[in-house]
Amino acid sequence: MKAAGTLIGAFAALAIIGSASAQTKSGIEKLYILNCGEGVAGDISRWSPGVNVGKSMEFVDNCYLIRHAEGWMLWDTGVADAIAAMPDGQAPSDPRMTHWRRPKTLASQLEELGVRPADIKYVAVSHSHPDHIGNVALFPQSMLLVQKFEYEWPGPTGTPRFKPEQPVTKLEGDHDVFGDGSVTIIATPGHTPGHQSLLVRLPKTGALVLSGDAVHFQSNWENRGIPANNTDKDQTLASMQRIADILAKEKGTL
Ligand SMILES: [Zn+2]
Repeated sequence: MKAAGTLIGAFAALAIIGSASAQTKSGIEKLYILNCGEGVAGDISRWSPGVNVGKSMEFVDNCYLIRHAEGWMLWDTGVADAIAAMPDGQAPSDPRMTHWRRPKTLASQLEELGVRPADIKYVAVSHSHPDHIGNVALFPQSMLLVQKFEYEWPGPTGTPRFKPEQPVTKLEGDHDVFGDGSVTIIATPGHTPGHQSLLVRLPKTGALVLSGDAVHFQSNWENRGIPANNTDKDQTLASMQRIADILAKEKGTL
């Protein structure tokens, strides 16, 4: 989740925010932003304890599709496509949480681009909350890239968070996905035990960090605010600092 209008601020489905020049050595060719859900959070003080109590906010939930010479990669899968068929979206049990809508399915956006689910080589998820893993099951042939700590973290009812039949690479730290430095998974635990972010080095646009839920609001980034339900406060602070250091070094954009 990200607060609408903050951080990267991009919202349009299928927007292309970077493309490669022919002479570059990097295998990365394009990054597409997909609409993977739109929500209204009932009370944003859940993410910033004591601040903005009772205030609601629109949320966007993006997925990112990367075209690389070595194959397609999807980063995050959003809320479940089934929500698109619900006339009033998916209302939360607790009104302080997020009421999700799905204006377009992930499947339909891939189809518009001429990409079949079987074409996706890697599906990587920032973490295992439902608004990020809602459509992993659409990609039974893709290799799931997830941190071991996240994969092995029991779900709320003690059940596994991922289907055992899903092909998976359980990561233990950072991972250079295509081996050319263009797309690197960065371990950023704290929001959940195995939260991860993605450093994408686009030949024209430069470096981007796709931060998942490492931080939700601009104000939380500036004030190092930590949501009440994060699994580890110290890890969260260390991960935010790690992202800040990477942005400084890469002259990157969050
Ligand atoms: Zn989350």
